[in-house]
Amino acid sequence: MEEPVGSGSEAQKVETARWLSAARWLTSVPIVAGRSLVGRVALFFAGAYLFLWVPDIDLVLIGLLHHRSIITHSILPGLLLLFFGRKLGAAPVSGALIGTSVHLSADLLSPMVGYAQIWLPAPYNSALGDLSYLWLAGNAVIGFGLASLITRSAFGHKISLPLILVVSASTGLVYGVVNEEAVSAVLITWLILLMSLFPEANLRGRLSRAVSSPATHASSRDATVDKSTEAD
Ligand SMILES: [Zn+2]
Repeated sequence: MEEPVGSGSEAQKVETARWLSAARWLTSVPIVAGRSLVGRVALFFAGAYLFLWVPDIDLVLIGLLHHRSIITHSILPGLLLLFFGRKLGAAPVSGALIGTSVHLSADLLSPMVGYAQIWLPAPYNSALGDLSYLWLAGNAVIGFGLASLITRSAFGHKISLPLILVVSASTGLVYGVVNEEAVSAVLITWLILLMSLFPEANLRGRLSRAVSSPATHASSRDATVDKSTEAD
């Protein structure tokens, strides 16, 4: 689908440009001018600590959704904030994605039976079984990765990584100890965070190369697209 056979590199360039512009739109959430650094940090923490609990709002909507609903146990609520709360700026959006990812990571520890599985909504009302692990881990890795990219919009490159690590590690610690009462829940959130940083660095490298030299990048895309050329 991405590589129509025989239609040459033009179609690939168009496809790449489209993909990159979508990725840039997703990750270039405005800082929101006029807000102080302290204000942005406060919103970053608030978003993270609030969204720690958002996936379990399916318990409130139990008439509509099964517990561990595929809708709330995903990055969808965070993405909704990204689309509809864009005016709030990058800080609360990236915080929200981190909080969600911590929750989903900790949920990975449950044996996937009964209510611990991920459930499709009505009219399907069926569970994903062992695929629940893949769903939770995939959403958590993407959530952390997207949050890391967006955090750079809010805070710039220098302090983003320390902020991501502090907020992720502290929400992981609080959620694991308070809600899950398990050290393993803390450790798995940190592990999933680390797993997200490598693909995030790779995507960030591609985005910055595309911004700095779109023409050069497009022509050398085939040589670079499958390689991890960015290490940090
Ligand atoms: Zn949950």
